[in-house]
Amino acid sequence: MTSPSELSEADRKFLENLRCKPKGTRFYNWARTFTSRPEYFLAPESERDIIEIIQIAVRCGLSVKAIGSGHSPSDIACTDSIILVMDKLRRVIAYDSNACTMTVETGIRLRDLHQVLGQRNMALSDLCCISDQSIAGAISTATHGSGVGFGDLSSMITYLVLIDGTGKRVECDQQNNTDLFDAARCSLGALGIITQVTIKCEPAFKLHAVQKPITLDEVINDIDGFVRSAEHVRIWWFPYTEHAVAWRANRTSMEKKWPKESFVRDRLYGFHIYQLQLYKARFMPNDLPGMARKHFKRRCMQEKEWVDDSYRVFSYDCPLKQYVNEWAIPLDQAPSALKQLREWFNAEERKSDGVRVHFPVEVRFAQESNTWLSPTYRRTVCYFGITMFRPYQKSVPYKEYWQAFEDIMRTHQGRPHWAKYHGMFYHDLQRAYPRFDDFGRIRETCDPHGIFVNDYIRNRILPPSKP
Ligand SMILES: Cc1cc2nc3c(=O)[nH]c(=O)nc-3n(C[C@H](O)[C@H](O)[C@H](O)COP(=O)(O)OP(=O)(O)OC[C@H]3O[C@@H](n4cnc5c(N)ncnc54)[C@H](O)[C@@H]3O)c2cc1C
Repeated sequence: MTSPSELSEADRKFLENLRCKPKGTRFYNWARTFTSRPEYFLAPESERDIIEIIQIAVRCGLSVKAIGSGHSPSDIACTDSIILVMDKLRRVIAYDSNACTMTVETGIRLRDLHQVLGQRNMALSDLCCISDQSIAGAISTATHGSGVGFGDLSSMITYLVLIDGTGKRVECDQQNNTDLFDAARCSLGALGIITQVTIKCEPAFKLHAVQKPITLDEVINDIDGFVRSAEHVRIWWFPYTEHAVAWRANRTSMEKKWPKESFVRDRLYGFHIYQLQLYKARFMPNDLPGMARKHFKRRCMQEKEWVDDSYRVFSYDCPLKQYVNEWAIPLDQAPSALKQLREWFNAEERKSDGVRVHFPVEVRFAQESNTWLSPTYRRTVCYFGITMFRPYQKSVPYKEYWQAFEDIMRTHQGRPHWAKYHGMFYHDLQRAYPRFDDFGRIRETCDPHGIFVNDYIRNRILPPSKP
């Protein structure tokens, strides 16, 4: 990498003018599980700025990563060179109420997108569980919600503009530049800086959600019936128990309503005391199975109902810092994977020093898509999300859990969530994704100088270099 002192005076001045954080500031992802020390945090204000930055990067051998809100639980957004903070690029460019589409600059956060869509009586058809992400960050890692009739967020994109690694502005959609379009919608930041997208939405809607207990066997024995029991469904299954909480939501015209809030139940017990217990369990991990059983009985037996604007009902709080891992497997393999995971938890519980886990397993669903690197490419999927509490780094044995989980996912043709740290590398990914080599060819064309390559891309997308 060129040292900043070797930049020409004009280039250095240009970069300094766009600097938005003091030199030496570190980048941390949201969970503070990954970090890097970029030479520059730059806040471009226009595509022109981005083109110029890329041209400087090519001339001087620097690398460039755009970030949204840095929520990815992996090193996917890390670089020691230039980080582009896209916060100033968040304008609405156009909308079409009849076609229900909106074109936006890609630094816009989902929570702001809900507002501007709402003002035009539109909404996203499905949504992840929080709305802090930028739209570009969300699509670049195929962020998803839940519902077999709904694709991940990248599948909602109908037009996209990117500045590639030569500084060229390229447009693509379903009719023009279609290969680039199918590659770029979920492109891990590897093809260029995405500056604009058009999103296919639907007329604003309310959701009626009902959350109630279900047994794991009810899901295993009729997975098709379960996924079709509502437009959007998900479960949180409590390891060491036969119990899960099922959340189902449908579009509705009912009046808005929320369950009564209780400070004692929701904040005091649900967050503070629970966090203390998890902390204590670091030293007494054998308490965890009992805690899971009690937690389910105390907090999850009661049915709950909500009716509200869709984006409020899709969202829920994720206040605890955590390690996460998530994979997608074909829907028809979900029952077998659930059974194997249950056997593994139970076998570990029988060992006095077996792995004990902190949180429920979240199970969600999504429809197949044409996005080359989406885990949903050409298959309707069931996502398995696992989490471990993260009081201090390296203090919980999550790696053994990850290993066992990933082994089960691999034997069920699993594809990992790109944003989350996972153990799949180039050759595994090449086997998992039919268009992986085509993506590689497009990457070489879009980024001939490798300015968008960081460790994550090098280890997973680039062919291993020959000795
Ligand atoms: C609390 C929490 C809850 C979550 N819930 C869900 C969930 O329900 N479902 C789900 O699927 N995921 C979920 N995630 C994962 C999250 O959606 C992804 O990590 C998403 O990528 C984060 O968006 P971001 O804007 O923070 O992107 P970042 O993490 O900043 O970046 C992600 C990738 O996108 C690239 N990128 C960002 N902007 C651009 C751009 N303009 N052009 C090109 N590349 C760009 C980056 O370089 C990087 O490669 C969750 C994460 C957290 C921390």
